[in-house]
Amino acid sequence: MTHYPHLFRPLDLGHVTLPNRVLMGSMHTGLEETGDWPRVARFYAERAEGGVGLMVTGGMAPNREGGVFPGAAGLFTAADIANHRSVTDAVHAAGGRIAMQILHAGRYAYSPDAVAPSAIKSPISPFPPKALDEAGIEKQIADIATAAARAREAGYDGVEVMGSEGYFLNQFLVRHTNRREDRWGGAFDNRMRLPLEVVRRVRAAVGDDFILIYRLSMIDLVPDGSTWDEVVQLAKAVERAGASILNTGIGWHEARIPTIATSVPRRAFAWVTKKLMGEVSVPLVTSNRINTPEVAEEVLAEGCADMVSMARPFLADSHFVRKAAEGRSGQIAPCIACNQACLDHTFQMKVATCLVNPRAAHETDLRYQPATQPRRIAVVGAGPAGLSAALVAAERGHAVTLFEKAERIGGQLDMARRIPGKEEFHGLVAHYETMLAALGVETRLGAMADPEALAGYDDVVIATGVLPRDPGIDGQEAPHVLSYIDVLQNGAEVGARVAIVGAGGIGFDTAQFLAHRPGESATLDLAHWRRLWGVGDPAETPGGLAPEGPRPDAPARRITLLQRKAEKPGKRLGKTTGWIHRAELRMLGVEMRAGVGYRRIVPEGLLIETGQGEELIAADTIVLCAGQEPDRRLADALAARGTSAHVIGGADVALELDAKRAIDQGARLGATL
Ligand code: NAP
Ligand code: SF4
Repeated sequence: MTHYPHLFRPLDLGHVTLPNRVLMGSMHTGLEETGDWPRVARFYAERAEGGVGLMVTGGMAPNREGGVFPGAAGLFTAADIANHRSVTDAVHAAGGRIAMQILHAGRYAYSPDAVAPSAIKSPISPFPPKALDEAGIEKQIADIATAAARAREAGYDGVEVMGSEGYFLNQFLVRHTNRREDRWGGAFDNRMRLPLEVVRRVRAAVGDDFILIYRLSMIDLVPDGSTWDEVVQLAKAVERAGASILNTGIGWHEARIPTIATSVPRRAFAWVTKKLMGEVSVPLVTSNRINTPEVAEEVLAEGCADMVSMARPFLADSHFVRKAAEGRSGQIAPCIACNQACLDHTFQMKVATCLVNPRAAHETDLRYQPATQPRRIAVVGAGPAGLSAALVAAERGHAVTLFEKAERIGGQLDMARRIPGKEEFHGLVAHYETMLAALGVETRLGAMADPEALAGYDDVVIATGVLPRDPGIDGQEAPHVLSYIDVLQNGAEVGARVAIVGAGGIGFDTAQFLAHRPGESATLDLAHWRRLWGVGDPAETPGGLAPEGPRPDAPARRITLLQRKAEKPGKRLGKTTGWIHRAELRMLGVEMRAGVGYRRIVPEGLLIETGQGEELIAADTIVLCAGQEPDRRLADALAARGTSAHVIGGADVALELDAKRAIDQGARLGATL
């Protein structure tokens, strides 16, 4: 008996039946661009072994001008087809199915060769596109159809035509990117001509016994986007033109509303797909912020869609589906929607991987093989680095003892999960608890490990983390000065006016925490979140932006966030998420001050130096978030006795410490012990 009856209902597509309702959504991993095809094949094959019903590849360019960036992967030559064949063969051998996404970037192409319906530059690319003439349009359609035919030749089970997220096909649909007055612009029948022609020609190129997914933008989240009537009209026409599945696209890339970040509520957009249910007869797929089998089952059971698409959850755990099917959902490593190792890497032109699973896209070079000689290993510190090392070592067959001085595991993760908008960390800590038990790690909570306690182990791993940096501000011993640990972990009383010293990740988190009342979080309340960001309904406003704009609630406190550097506060936060943190704090009325000097703390608040003289930041409480230093006390004590130990995570290097590096370092050590 399955725990998820809707999720594991087969889906009959006519010529093929999918075993379950899970689609692994398209992700650009950058793997194809490495040219290391055995690595690409292993990445997809491992996920096929994990039981997903159907996978979609990262976007493949149909031609050079349509690539997201110069050199973007596609199927241009016989060699390309052979390389892709190695992927489809590996997936089929593992019992899976895979469709290739065809992605034409249009004006989003980071290239001087970009083409679009009209010569209107996008706000997210420096390159103004060239407007296509009639022959140019025909070439794009023909190239997309040719790419589909090549995909079939390469052994794919289908293609996904990328028609959403503000890419080329989407650009034809709305007036703010399509100002044409010929048969490709003007009335909606004309604006949807290109997407429909593409679907018709792709269907003609691939034949009937081939899956054709069309990803349709159901809520553009940009001004002058599609109306709901247009969405429905397009969906029906795309079905008639030959699509076999309709997938949901949410928001253009230029939208200023987060759509997949961790602070977006789970299943935040399933209601949009649900509006389209019953309008078409092909299966509808919903997506965005679905990351557990429970949530996936819920949206299917509520009739929001026929299938769910999850993408990043398959970076976090390639065996998501198999574990769900076997009733082991607690063992699924959860995607916490941080974007730190996936999307942020992509935007830095690095191969994507996953914060919680460093093996993602490293399946061929990071392998957790059974230990030839099981050893007794002590790990000190149950933060991200220690947990990661302990679990990988235990998975490989070592006998692991984990010492943690606190009464619970998690370290910095335990603090992160208390921040409104970071609730996903609860799931990650719970997963680690499950895995410690499943892998038989002896976990000693409330246990200070000293050199004596560590004697007798074959290997000692020091993951003791960090200590808060002492900023040495005159007057900081006063009772109204707290550290972030007092505030986030120990529940210290905080006044109505707060000055925060340090605007790094933790300063931002502390501001977010203090701007909310206890228990309040827009991430846990979809109506609140939609009000906060101004997400309306495409049936009421074209594109679905609320006409009244964002409407944040009044903050719980008046907060000033300070840093000494002159740069924009929050500049070093995540590449794809920093703007969200900055926007949230702005909406909560947090004042951000850069380029200040700290003079001294006085009973009335914090005296700063601004360059124009001294200024008092009136505050009832001052919170110190001035970064961290490695906690090497135990490592140094062991070294003094000549005992060798592996030092990882914040205890190794605190600078720029984050969970991504800590988990990766722990896993890589665990793999070699
Ligand atoms: P951090 O990012 O290094 O920031 C430390 C802050 O303290 C900076 O704003 C720095 O700015 C200030 N500072 C440094 N030395 C100081 C001194 N002597 N006196 C006064 N101020 C000083 O460290 P963190 O905030 O502790 O975060 C640690 C790591 O956790 C981050 O690197 C991040 O990767 C991770 N994290 C990330 C997030 C996120 O992305 N949302 C959230 C939490 C944690 P000035 O030197 O300019 O004053
Ligand atoms: Fe999810 Fe973060 Fe991993 Fe990306 S890096 S897949 S967002 S957990």
